[in-house]
Amino acid sequence: MAYLDRPIEYVKGVGPQRADLLKKELQIFTVADLLQHYPFRYVDRTRFTLIRDIPADTQYVQLRGRLITLGEVGGASGKRLSGILQDSSGMIELVWFKGFRWITRALSVGDEYIVFGKPSYFQNRLNLVHPEIEPASTPIAEKMQGFQPVYPSTEKLKAKGLDSKGIMRMMLKVLEDLPAYEIKENLPDEVRKQYRLIPRYEAIRYIHHPPGEKEANEAIRRLKFEELFLSQVSILQLKVGRRQHASGYIFQNISNVFNQFYHQHLKFELTAAQKRVLREIRQDVLSGKQMNRLLQGDVGSGKTIVALMSMLMAVDNGYQCCMMAPTEILAQQHYRNITSMLAGLPVKTELITSSVKGKARKFILQGLQTGEVHIAVGTHALIEEAVQFDNLGLVVIDEQHRFGVAQRAALWEKSEHPPHILVMTATPIPRTLAMTLYGDLDVSVIDELPPGRTPVITRHIYESRRLALFGFLRDQIRQGRQVYVVYPLIDESEKLDLKNLMEGYEAIIRQFPPPAYSVGVLHGRMKPEDKELEMQRFVKGETQIMVSTTVIEVGVDVPNATVMVIENAERFGLSQLHQLRGRVGRGASQSYCILVSGNKLSSEAKKRLQTMVETQDGFLIAETDMHMRGPGDIEGTRQSGIMNFRIADITKDAAMLTEARKAAQAILEIDPHLLLPRHAALKNFLASRQQKARKWSKIS
Ligand code: ADP
Ligand code: MG
Repeated sequence: MAYLDRPIEYVKGVGPQRADLLKKELQIFTVADLLQHYPFRYVDRTRFTLIRDIPADTQYVQLRGRLITLGEVGGASGKRLSGILQDSSGMIELVWFKGFRWITRALSVGDEYIVFGKPSYFQNRLNLVHPEIEPASTPIAEKMQGFQPVYPSTEKLKAKGLDSKGIMRMMLKVLEDLPAYEIKENLPDEVRKQYRLIPRYEAIRYIHHPPGEKEANEAIRRLKFEELFLSQVSILQLKVGRRQHASGYIFQNISNVFNQFYHQHLKFELTAAQKRVLREIRQDVLSGKQMNRLLQGDVGSGKTIVALMSMLMAVDNGYQCCMMAPTEILAQQHYRNITSMLAGLPVKTELITSSVKGKARKFILQGLQTGEVHIAVGTHALIEEAVQFDNLGLVVIDEQHRFGVAQRAALWEKSEHPPHILVMTATPIPRTLAMTLYGDLDVSVIDELPPGRTPVITRHIYESRRLALFGFLRDQIRQGRQVYVVYPLIDESEKLDLKNLMEGYEAIIRQFPPPAYSVGVLHGRMKPEDKELEMQRFVKGETQIMVSTTVIEVGVDVPNATVMVIENAERFGLSQLHQLRGRVGRGASQSYCILVSGNKLSSEAKKRLQTMVETQDGFLIAETDMHMRGPGDIEGTRQSGIMNFRIADITKDAAMLTEARKAAQAILEIDPHLLLPRHAALKNFLASRQQKARKWSKIS
């Protein structure tokens, strides 16, 4: 087995426990995965400072000296572990407030150490609090000097010694054992030369263990370019592949069901934007080419109806359609909406998710295969091989950013000709960027909300003002309105979050006691029937306050709900806050969104809340969101998911993206199928990567 494919538990010094954590926390399964865990910044440890010369306002310093004392000092209230480090120029105190036993055991008075930290003043004297400290004699210490990477890690990993330093040690070990020939070049020489990129092997070594700043930057540039270039080659190749397919289906007839629905079933007038988008889609499906359209529209702009009417165009022409949503709740909601809107029309709609099982599932699958079922609504269960269509003509994908290109491709393969594709997203991305990222998608925008909506008033308050908030809620309820109170539950298994929610629920019941008030609660741990029941009570207006987790992010439409209170608002991302706010402001009366936060806020959190207060423009919010999220923030990059890049950041590296796209185009123009020997390495690399992605899309 290649060293790169070796499972992480078999790397020397890792072992089963840490391996488990690496898998769970960072999705690192193999040596290759580990090498792709890139640092998010570097610290310069090429120089040593003399203690006497430590500048007063320095960031970090590296010292080399002898530890001459070590012991606990101070009384019960302010105990600390204190050591004195001495070099040829002077002395400085090293201070720890915890981990006394461990540190005392690890250090020996009289030995020489390399110490790194940020000096601070205490009672007019410089000291170093919780410095990094390494024996100066060990061979690893030699390597650890220099220009050093800082890696993202997590609390759980840190507890097992895998903080940034621990990860760095592991990385150095792996780089030592890794045979150079295993890291094959994947960029064609012509590209490397033109863009002056260092070889791949060098880049991987340098990003983790650079001799200096210059090499680190070269490595970053090379790996970013590689990532963007490969993504562009894949996207553009899909386009080539599709062009070669016979042309797209033509939906010639516009008659029966579409007209009946439009004239007799539709309860409102379509907005001008909705009509425009429907015209654009209509042109596509008449053109004889396969449609690939991205539909962007803010929360509540009415994308569903556009999707439905597009599906009716297909049905009128004897084709089947499917609509894929990212979550089960969302799929169910679409299913309910669509079946109720189509009631009385000769269109058969079915739901396919992982919880539709047994006979019912078999029956539906059969109906799809014979063509008896016209519309299938579902989750990614629709991609499974068992789901076969008679003649799939149109695929609608809702909330596109949660699906990858590979998953889209899997759906295309479900029919002889590629079906038309309509992708919908409420996370708008700038038009030019969309074209570059999806390469082959045309973009439609619904830039107008249905009439009769009043803008939502948004306020940010601190926890300490909760009593005033309760007064406001009481007032709204007196006017007959309903209220959502949302708690974060990032991971539905988090006990602490659940406790938080239940305490909040009880506090609200105390403020709003029965029988005058009725308060409901909704979270992911409840049984589906109970959830449904609670939701129904709220829809009917039987409960005035619904305390819940973000499950209502994609919940039912309740126009009478006019207040959205978001607790611990600082813990939510911008796009999620925007989605949540989209739950209110659906009726004609004035709605409110109250963001409640703790008193201590990071500057990022402040900016997020401020953005929410200042604007309701989804485009602006999405753009701010993208700019605020850096590649170093693991949680952020994972959530934004739109572009699963590991090192590149399309908001900051837009210029490089354009270059990479040009390079990809140039290659494919000469050699669309990458058949030339000089492109073989590139072709092989993409093929093996795609194989992995497919496997992944099946299990996820
Ligand atoms: P989203 O774009 O967020 O998916 P939906 O399609 O769920 O939005 O639409 C939000 C709400 O607006 C739904 O209740 C829908 O019935 C309603 N709606 C859509 N289009 C119109 C319209 N033209 N006039 C009035 N209401 C509309
Ligand atoms: Mg929607």
